[in-house]
Amino acid sequence: MNLTERDLKVIWHPYTQMKTAAPAIGIVRGEGAGLFDERGKKYIDAVSSWWVNIHGHAHPYIAQKVSEQLHKLEHVIFAGFTHQGAIELAERLLAILPDNQQKAFYSDNGSTAIEVAIKMCLQYWLNKGHQRTKIIAFNNAYHGDTFGAMAVSGRSAFTKAFDSLLFEVEFIDTPNADNISDLKSQISNLKSSTACFIFEPLVQGSGGMLMYEAQYLDQLMAHCRQENVLMIADEVFTGFGRTGKLFACDHLQVQPDIMCFSKGLTGGTMALGLTTCTQHIYDAFLSDDRLKTLFHGHSFTANPVACAAALASLDLFLEPATAVNIQRIEALHRQFADKIKHHPKIKAIRQTGTIVAMEWETGNDTSYFNSLRDKLYHYFLAEGIILRPLGNIIYILPPYCITNAELNYVYNKIEQALEEI
Ligand SMILES: *Cc1c(COP(=O)(O)O)cnc(C)c1O
Repeated sequence: MNLTERDLKVIWHPYTQMKTAAPAIGIVRGEGAGLFDERGKKYIDAVSSWWVNIHGHAHPYIAQKVSEQLHKLEHVIFAGFTHQGAIELAERLLAILPDNQQKAFYSDNGSTAIEVAIKMCLQYWLNKGHQRTKIIAFNNAYHGDTFGAMAVSGRSAFTKAFDSLLFEVEFIDTPNADNISDLKSQISNLKSSTACFIFEPLVQGSGGMLMYEAQYLDQLMAHCRQENVLMIADEVFTGFGRTGKLFACDHLQVQPDIMCFSKGLTGGTMALGLTTCTQHIYDAFLSDDRLKTLFHGHSFTANPVACAAALASLDLFLEPATAVNIQRIEALHRQFADKIKHHPKIKAIRQTGTIVAMEWETGNDTSYFNSLRDKLYHYFLAEGIILRPLGNIIYILPPYCITNAELNYVYNKIEQALEEI
């Protein structure tokens, strides 16, 4: 039996209706932006394997650093003990994050980084003796699949089975020139009961690569600061170059109180979550009262191998060549967007940094589950490209090492699909 057949017998895949989904493709090898299946067919990974990969697959430098770490120390309990990799990663990241970020708390993935951030905010107020439990989030937000992270995400088909169990959240629209003063008054009305405001800066990924302007987010954040509402920037997706700068928050003047990272953190090599915060938040947990402790931790918190992968990825990320690659992709995306924006099948096209997203015209059927999505997905697979439309929205967000030839191939196949589908 091949991998596809063996998989069918034992595996339950994420976000997959196992009854109707096409069998999973067995991948045996990766190199650069390419993934190779068991028959040797190449796929260009135009979605960076669920948005995590930034330097390409099986990068030899990361592989070497991970291998060295495995021979030194694979894991150690992170309460009462520490290690070089966790410290160095925190030191180096805090040095390039907004300068109010002073402390690093590790976890396992993006969702857990969000859980930690939410708990930090809720308990911050409790520790200070205030009754503030409300959370403000954006409509169409996505912050993860664990219960707390799901609760602060927009309600959708994906949360429907659990909606009645999710805690209540105050959802507001993303800011623009027309609604900004309205949003500010909404925040002012809620401020005395609000613990925090959580947002994906500039780009709402899972919501459909929805984009909004830094200047209005800045205004909203300045207002939150004035009203004493803590701010959590979820950079799980936008961090590490996606938006064209190191972090999406580098497009902003106002600094968030808490930031969350995962996905690109290890270059997409393995799972690791990180929540950073200000000294001010950290200090609210210092006490002789044991109940003021942040009681949160995971078995694999700050896993040394994951930290080694993150440090190796950071080395590559900070090389000048990576910034050049990011600018190159931005420029190519822009040309492509200009070229196809007037096509009758393109309802909208938008770009931030290395992310370009196209809304396909579907007439009246705009649901995530429309048949166009599956048609497009399989069309591109057949052409050797992994693109995973969110409903009728196709987006490209490649590893930064993708070649011009590979990127042009993807653009050409999208143009071909516009004619053929
Ligand atoms: C993917 C994602 C998460 C959740 O991360 P996981 O590692 O999948 O749990 C949280 N926030 C944003 C913005 C994401 O895109």
